[in-house]
Amino acid sequence: MTARIILAKGREKSLLRKHPWIFSGAIAKMEGKASSGDTVDVCDSTGRWLAKAAFSPSSQIRARVWSFDPNESIDIDFFVRKLSQALKLRTWLAEKDNLDSYRLIAGESDGLPGITIDRFGQFLVLQLLSAGAEYQRPALTTALQQVFPDCHLYERSDVAVRKKEGLEPVQGVIAGDTPPALLPITEHGMKLLVDIQHGHKTGYYLDQRDSRFGLRRYSADAEVLNCFSYTGGFAVSALLGGCKSVTSVDTSQEALDIARQNITLNQLDLSKAEFLRDDVFKLLRRYRDEGKRFDVIVMDPPKFVENKNQLMGACRGYKDINMLAMQLLRPGGFLLTFSCSGLMTTDLFQKIIADAAVDAGRTAQFIEQFRQAADHPVSSAYPEGLYLKGFVCQVD
Ligand code: SAH
Repeated sequence: MTARIILAKGREKSLLRKHPWIFSGAIAKMEGKASSGDTVDVCDSTGRWLAKAAFSPSSQIRARVWSFDPNESIDIDFFVRKLSQALKLRTWLAEKDNLDSYRLIAGESDGLPGITIDRFGQFLVLQLLSAGAEYQRPALTTALQQVFPDCHLYERSDVAVRKKEGLEPVQGVIAGDTPPALLPITEHGMKLLVDIQHGHKTGYYLDQRDSRFGLRRYSADAEVLNCFSYTGGFAVSALLGGCKSVTSVDTSQEALDIARQNITLNQLDLSKAEFLRDDVFKLLRRYRDEGKRFDVIVMDPPKFVENKNQLMGACRGYKDINMLAMQLLRPGGFLLTFSCSGLMTTDLFQKIIADAAVDAGRTAQFIEQFRQAADHPVSSAYPEGLYLKGFVCQVD
């Protein structure tokens, strides 16, 4: 018999809103035995059936919902349905925006908790982040092969969060060919090289696509500073927008080497591009002391906040780099600034930028807003899915 999770009284509220997580503290008792990743039934305190969920014995998120339909089996057909549904949005987007790469499955936001799948051309790159996702690996991969018979499957589950689920890191070919060392992809007409095997995350930050495109409109004749550049997507965009020069800064030499190749691949003028392997925090201070100035600065740091305890420190970090960036801008210059920390709300981030302007002794006007691209949708049941936000400020 299927094991049952019985929730404590009143703890069914989030599930009735179709939020997919069941925290350990919401559980009154467990009936029957379940192993890691097994599908269990979830019931309210009176025994009323609510959902089918994957059991995660090691995680604080003790179960993640697969389905709110009692008649739905979690099998190959279930994954085929979910993948096909997700593909509809991405197919529309790919045609509209001239893309061959996108996030196909954004976990909870696409009704598949713990599963991330990025498509780069004919390569599908999987991250299985929860016990349930790991348990369903055979059904999921079979479903992927049915829906995408011409694609190769590669896994990049080499991430720390798997530890919380009691899982080891995994990386390698699941089916088909090994990805090439650098795979060219297309984004809004730009060509970009992606290192699926060794790059960050699944190889590339697809979520910043719209912001990268947005930068073009601010770049004409500008001297651009591209902080936290990774493989130079913003730099290519700035050059396409007609910038005078673009300086890309990152601590990763591998990323900067690819950035340089990306400029050449798009037949852009490499003499306008500079690449610095440096710590952005230190470099901004040095530039300030040297009196260096720019017309446009992109500030796209990695995630500063993993949990609530780190939020205060992260606020200081964001304020610090944005203050320094504003000090480096010529009057009338543009700051494109981002936060990919889910715990940092859009409102709080805007306040931090406002504080940074005060500390910099400058005034900033918020003139445009960005968020993660549409292939990273936010489900009405899972508002936490909104994590990336950005502002364009004109700084006087
Ligand atoms: N803007 C990029 C994505 C940035 S991801 C894009 O559009 O693709 C964050 C990047 O910050 C990573 O490449 C990482 O190597 C780099 N990084 C992290 N800490 C850094 C630091 N202190 N100084 C410079 N780069 C850093």
